[in-house]
Amino acid sequence: MSGKSVAIIYTGGTFGMRPSEKGYAPARDLDALIRERLPELSAESMPAYELIEYDDPLESSNATPHHWYHLAEQIAGAADRFDGFVVIHGTDTLAYTASALSFLLGGSRKPVILTGSQIPLCEVRNDAAGNLIGAVQAIATGKIKEVGVCFGRHVLRGNRTTKVNATELDAFASPNFPPLAEIGTELRFNGTNGLPSDSGIFGELPPPYHACNSAVLRIFPGIPERFIDAIVDTGAVGIVLRCYGVGTGPTADPQFLAALERASTAGVIIVAVSQCPEGSVSLRRYAAGSALADAGVLSGFDMTTEAAFTKLHALFALGLDRSAVAALMQQDLRGELTTS
Ligand code: ASP
Repeated sequence: MSGKSVAIIYTGGTFGMRPSEKGYAPARDLDALIRERLPELSAESMPAYELIEYDDPLESSNATPHHWYHLAEQIAGAADRFDGFVVIHGTDTLAYTASALSFLLGGSRKPVILTGSQIPLCEVRNDAAGNLIGAVQAIATGKIKEVGVCFGRHVLRGNRTTKVNATELDAFASPNFPPLAEIGTELRFNGTNGLPSDSGIFGELPPPYHACNSAVLRIFPGIPERFIDAIVDTGAVGIVLRCYGVGTGPTADPQFLAALERASTAGVIIVAVSQCPEGSVSLRRYAAGSALADAGVLSGFDMTTEAAFTKLHALFALGLDRSAVAALMQQDLRGELTTS
């Protein structure tokens, strides 16, 4: 044994699914399946593990902020007992959960690695076995001190991760940040990816906050301003605005601009991220971006949509006022953005 002990939390996802009449569906008793299909997990060279299974494993497209919070509580509550946590999760919203945990778990340096698979462990040929072994081994090295995602050939920073492929086995990428480690014949760590020093913004765990008061809106040609008004009318406190390129939008439409201004004057935090998977928002680069900034839109720099959305959620959970949330959205708190 490596001398480490790892908790494996099975939340659901394809990893443990079984075929049903309607297609793959979440299934219980991963323990039995692991014993049958993955005895290597108990090999001498592996850390000791404890498997914690959800009673009702989740299809991750049903995950809500409540699930992020429950998971964060579970991890924080057991942190003293384990050297690290592996979370088995469906791939569809895995990047949201990984991003959310990176904020909710605050300054913790305990490794939390999310993984899953594109093919269930019950199938003869699958990617589940390798992904789980990789995640557990990554923790055993002691070199990961944050929330990460182990999938395919990489270990990625959790809040930089996005699902980029619906069918291939390398389903995740971290387009604006190098992998924490490459998984080849050995685990090769990139030692230069340190986290910023703890801002202290997030303490042990923010108070319970299950509201879903933010929205994501992707700008498209001809977008009517009433879409913005409709979001504001729901009582939303934040909008992640997926802009074109470095942060532009239809600013020749005075009604669109007026709707943004109305929203930000009403106190809604509007954060621009790019529709492009790579690169960063730079609102003052084009007049069309400056107009957005003048209407109150903030730069989300190179954050993924998932990071921006869950960061808004976590900051509002702290009960911070609008100006504090606005300022913090533009700062690097957990390695989620690069300002330069
Ligand atoms: N629909 C599944 C889920 O997200 C996909 C997967 O796990 O790969 O739960």
